[in-house]
Amino acid sequence: MRIPKRVAVIGAGSMGSQAMWRLAARGAEVIGYDRYAPGHDRGAAGGESRIFRAAHLGEPGYIPLLRLADRMWDRLQRETGHALRRRSGCLVMGETDSPAMRTLLSSSAGNGLDHEVLDREDLARRYPQHRLPEGHTAVFDRMGAVIRPEASIQAAAGRAEQLGARVHRYTTVREVAPAARGGVDIVTDQGTDHVDAAVVTAGPWINTLLPDLPRSVDIRRLISSWHIPTRHDWFAGGAPAFVRATPHDCYGLPSPDGLSVKIGLSLARYLPVPDPERLDRTVRPEELGIFRELIAELMPDLNPDPIRLSVYMEGYTDSGNPLVGHLPGEDDIIVMAGFSGSGFKLSPAMGEIAADLALDGTTDHPIDFLAPAGVGTA
Ligand SMILES: Cc1cc2nc3c(=O)[nH]c(=O)nc-3n(C[C@H](O)[C@H](O)[C@H](O)COP(=O)(O)OP(=O)(O)OC[C@H]3O[C@@H](n4cnc5c(N)ncnc54)[C@H](O)[C@@H]3O)c2cc1C
Repeated sequence: MRIPKRVAVIGAGSMGSQAMWRLAARGAEVIGYDRYAPGHDRGAAGGESRIFRAAHLGEPGYIPLLRLADRMWDRLQRETGHALRRRSGCLVMGETDSPAMRTLLSSSAGNGLDHEVLDREDLARRYPQHRLPEGHTAVFDRMGAVIRPEASIQAAAGRAEQLGARVHRYTTVREVAPAARGGVDIVTDQGTDHVDAAVVTAGPWINTLLPDLPRSVDIRRLISSWHIPTRHDWFAGGAPAFVRATPHDCYGLPSPDGLSVKIGLSLARYLPVPDPERLDRTVRPEELGIFRELIAELMPDLNPDPIRLSVYMEGYTDSGNPLVGHLPGEDDIIVMAGFSGSGFKLSPAMGEIAADLALDGTTDHPIDFLAPAGVGTA
């Protein structure tokens, strides 16, 4: 009888919960650890909604990974019976001649994505809740969806447990170290576990656990702000999620309860987080002012006073591409970090890839461009 591989997953958040699910489904003995509990809101995954979209503003390498993620989201919903993703569509709006919009338009057409290009008049008729300035275009991505992050993490972790995974909640891993006898030692305050391989998915805490990453991950503080519409038909037209590219960088999602619209800002507005255990959750008046200005200009039918404000954190890399793969020189330690504000949609694909890497040492999925040491140096 083949002895199952023993695999540790450190951080049962967005990526880790999916890695646990896929590893357990493939027969591994899975031990998960989280400093809190799956579904908590202290890291990168809180705030009730995340955008899924296939229309990508940059790197074309994401398209096959998004397609894999799309299939895996359906599979997780089927296996768990939970409604985790609503096909709302996603509107991406920006200056027609900007490099980001040009890439989006050409890659959407070139990759056969199910989309529609809308000019100002089309948008005003179909989605009057959004104002589109002169010289801007909107792309409606029909694969776009709203995902429920906390529910998804709980569903994936719960499914992994059903399949035999053990999850140590409220257990902080202090060290992940290659063991002299092969495999990896996982050190917690309760003791040391020895495993064949470790998948490190510590999100915004990655630098605390692995301080010598080959590419740096910069932890930033993100504010989400929820606003009630002042017109009753704000949610008309299927209430798509939306992304506004340059020069108005922001994004938003209708709340799953249908009451409000959540708005988030662009990376340029995010402050650094020197210590993830001491995230500053106080929103300053000047930060609120940014939301007010955006609302006045782009979505004037939203009430500028928020009904909820929440602060989260996320790891960003210089390129915007996460680190996904074996740590250089370590055959048994896999890292997935630095998802740069757009990882949630990919998380079940990352779970599948984590299982490939931990169990087979390699994957057929195209992730070379995400190599932890950078492209061409892995
Ligand atoms: C406000 C906001 C909005 C976003 N919007 C979108 C969006 O619309 N679409 C999209 O695709 N992406 C979006 N993202 C990005 C996406 O949410 C992240 O890329 C993703 O959640 C990162 O997942 P992660 O697993 O790396 O981190 P997390 O989900 O934070 O998971 C890390 C886990 O590790 C645990 N942990 C850390 N250290 C240890 C340790 N030493 N021992 C044990 N456990 C540990 C933590 O408790 C946590 O559960 C957004 C991010 C933010 C913050």
